[in-house]
Amino acid sequence: MNQANKPENEQPPCTRREVALLAQLQEIELVIEESNILHPENSERRLESLRLQRQELRRNLPSAWLERYDKLREQGAPVVKEASGICTGCRLRVPQGDLQRMRNGSAPWLCPNCSRFILLSE
Ligand SMILES: [Zn+2]
Repeated sequence: MNQANKPENEQPPCTRREVALLAQLQEIELVIEESNILHPENSERRLESLRLQRQELRRNLPSAWLERYDKLREQGAPVVKEASGICTGCRLRVPQGDLQRMRNGSAPWLCPNCSRFILLSE
């Protein structure tokens, strides 16, 4: 029939899988960017393979998170890590309750302070 039964605020998952893919994407995009600026000697073939990897990663990510990623990227690194309960992006402590909800998949992996994607430690 239609999609009226779908909850309005339903969001695609954003847990370890998605954030790990976004972290890979960030790394590849940095290399591509650096190649343009610092290493123009990098072969076109290598750049081409990086661009393909980037395309592949983007294809595997929900568009809602990609949009957020692209917006954050304008201001710096969109994906950061958590270490000993601290976000390495904003250096603030992530509340234990938030960490727990993220780990059990009931909250998206976003830093509650700086709202970057946060990759939790194992
Ligand atoms: Zn943060």
